[in-house]
Amino acid sequence: LIQLSIPLNYLGMVYREVKQALSNIQRMYDLLDEAQEVADSPGAPALAVRGAELRFEHVDFHYDPARAILRDVDFSIPAGKTVAVVGTTGAGKSTLARLLYRFYDVSAGRILIDGQDIRSVTQDSLRAAIGIVPQDTVLFNDSIYYNIAYGKPSASREEVIAAARSAHIHDFIESLPQGYDSAVGERGLKLSGGEKQRVAIARTLLKNPALLVFDEATSALDTRTEKIIQAELEDIARERTTLVIAHRLSTIVDADEIIVLDQGCIVERGHHAALLAAGGRYAALWAMQQREAVPVAA
Ligand code: ADP
Repeated sequence: LIQLSIPLNYLGMVYREVKQALSNIQRMYDLLDEAQEVADSPGAPALAVRGAELRFEHVDFHYDPARAILRDVDFSIPAGKTVAVVGTTGAGKSTLARLLYRFYDVSAGRILIDGQDIRSVTQDSLRAAIGIVPQDTVLFNDSIYYNIAYGKPSASREEVIAAARSAHIHDFIESLPQGYDSAVGERGLKLSGGEKQRVAIARTLLKNPALLVFDEATSALDTRTEKIIQAELEDIARERTTLVIAHRLSTIVDADEIIVLDQGCIVERGHHAALLAAGGRYAALWAMQQREAVPVAA
């Protein structure tokens, strides 16, 4: 019994941690298929993606019924536009991404992509439509080639290299003694924060999703690399519907809409300049960040 219960406990722990992590979401989800909390409804069709308009419609959510996490969260991202969500730690920002990826189902309200409730379509088709660039990219103990190709296992070598070029990491890879075959991850070459972000970007470019979620890095990069990566992210976001979970306000001044979450409620929304002029929560967060020059949320 003891021999059995230890691994089971361990699995429970791993599962909980996985649920928290946005990194490597798909791979881990595949591994934990058995433990899925949400299931496809019988005969569910695949998501039919057109422009990938995203809508959170009066969404309530709680992990535990005793404590509401999101309350009446209602916003849309028109096809191809970018919405950034800001707010202090614990406001519920990452939960939005977890709900979109259907790690959990909403407690009330709906999440719609091009008018389709995400609970009514297959999870595979939903996840195929969403690309997540996580805060902290975890690399597999494998070649850098594998780590990029993971975005689309059926990709040809040419496609992988094209994605690496677009993510501005091809030259770096070519400079390594073993090129694309170089081992990375815990047991291989240690990549810098910026290089890891680029691997994540290359993966996402290869996957070519209609919908993007950026969970911004809080601190990993130096200012110069940060600026370059930011420009690259803006580039891949241009034609795609994008949800940015923002930790640094300086990176979202151009968002089509900024949503300020506080304890699970939208307390303010609008463009950067209008929000600053309003002198409310956003302006206060901005002022705090200018003073401290550190992320508002960890
Ligand atoms: P943010 O991304 O804005 O920092 P999160 O969405 O991660 O906030 O978390 C919102 C709230 O939900 C926090 O109070 C957090 O403690 C809680 N929370 C997050 N994940 C879980 C979970 N798996 N079970 C219970 N509570 C959770």
